[in-house]
Amino acid sequence: MSGARSERQNANSLAAASAAGIKPKLVYPVPGSAVAASDQPTEAVSQRPAPASAPGAAANRSDAIRMNTADIRFLVIEDQDFQRALLVHMLAGLGAKHISEAVDGYAALDIWKKRQIDVIITDLDLPRMDGMEFIRHIGEEGLPVAMILTTVHDRSLLASVGAMAEAYGISVLGTIAKPVTIQKLEALLDLYQPPASKDVSSSLLLPAEDFAEALAGRQFEPLFQPKVDVATGMVKGAEALARWFHPQHGMLGPHAFISALETDQRIDELTWMIFEKAAAACRDWRAAGLDWTVSVNLSLATIINVGLADRIGDIVQAVGLQPRNVILEVTETVAVSDMVRALENLARLRIKGFGLSIDDYGKGYSSMQQLSRIPFTELKIDQTFVMKAIENESCRVILESSLDIARKLGIKAVAEGVETHAQWELLKTLRCDLAQGFYFAKPMSAEAIVEWAAKWTADR
Ligand code: C2E
Ligand code: MG
Ligand code: MG
Repeated sequence: MSGARSERQNANSLAAASAAGIKPKLVYPVPGSAVAASDQPTEAVSQRPAPASAPGAAANRSDAIRMNTADIRFLVIEDQDFQRALLVHMLAGLGAKHISEAVDGYAALDIWKKRQIDVIITDLDLPRMDGMEFIRHIGEEGLPVAMILTTVHDRSLLASVGAMAEAYGISVLGTIAKPVTIQKLEALLDLYQPPASKDVSSSLLLPAEDFAEALAGRQFEPLFQPKVDVATGMVKGAEALARWFHPQHGMLGPHAFISALETDQRIDELTWMIFEKAAAACRDWRAAGLDWTVSVNLSLATIINVGLADRIGDIVQAVGLQPRNVILEVTETVAVSDMVRALENLARLRIKGFGLSIDDYGKGYSSMQQLSRIPFTELKIDQTFVMKAIENESCRVILESSLDIARKLGIKAVAEGVETHAQWELLKTLRCDLAQGFYFAKPMSAEAIVEWAAKWTADR
């Protein structure tokens, strides 16, 4: 670490401390907490009330939020002792009671393995293992966690590292260009939400017999989420999303079963079950006068199946649907060794007239390569970029260039993860074709979506 950098950081810290009304000499060590400024991180269980002089902003927080903060288990990673102590002090001032600390990525991974952590606040410039490598280790674990990233570098770096963390499935609450202030910290903590049920279900380790029984008993059903024309608001189709109606655990999302079925090499059985039900639903919608398409997700294991195109063709014909009414969504990066077979299948499906969609575009690393090889008809922009496009410049740039690519390739662009009216308005301005997201509707049954669409259309 250069002396200049550490000086600059200390100056920034002092400014932050002063902005937050904190007198640095009172800050470190935090009185009443077991904070350690050593390589050996310890749990800081601070019972002390927020310092009266410290976080002015803390006074604005509702008691409910303050209680939430008290329940959150934090891990602060910062190599500069002073900066780390300042962060801990700010957190304590915001009501945090469980704060672990680490001076570098190795110490942090040690804590991560031993304790449950909800929110990690990490500097990107760490000694020995940098912030990016640390994020990769955490991301590969696949456990639910939220992160706040800090750095003295410019905002575009924070944005791209933030996008990388999101690609690993880490929920990035936001990024803070140093100096960290209590106001910035508080604003990001307000965004924290405990993991949704799908994360809980993802950690459910269900026995193999459950899967066998579920497949035999046809316990998997598709729910449908509408795809809406951005310009007119008209419903144009729906995506089938698999759910497991488990006799004991209730409704479980894909995180509870997709990768397990892939590992057991039984994913095809799920694919066909969902595909048949989705095709039948689309046939019924169309029979009722709704000119909708249905989209179905396919795993890589399914795409490389010999005979895939024929089987799909047969099912569609059997239910009385046209291939052009069906869109097949492909997410996985196709491994080089499987590319030939995948290409053969996808090309055959395209020739038969099925739509082909590249899902979660922008999240993977080989998107451009895939686009040039596979005859896609639709590009679904990953929800990360759509959700953050308004407040995050880099996400907005990725969204705009994805739309540009879709236009140049002459294929439809679909924005995923639209949650607010403002995001819909932005998509109108950017002339995106279709949109999908909780703002319009959450996934629902084949019958419920018809009722929802009638009301949605009438209300408009
Ligand atoms: P996906 O295909 O990208 O589906 C979109 C996911 O985003 C769905 O999650 C959907 O519920 C969620 N979503 C939609 N709008 C919003 C929004 O506004 N905000 C937020 N936060 N989320 C939104 P879900 O149903 O949990 O599915 C997760 C993934 O599981 C899917 O991602 C897809 O890759 C996979 N999957 C689902 N069904 C199947 C299936 O039948 N077969 C295979 N192979 N994979 C499936
Ligand atoms: Mg999809
Ligand atoms: Mg997607």
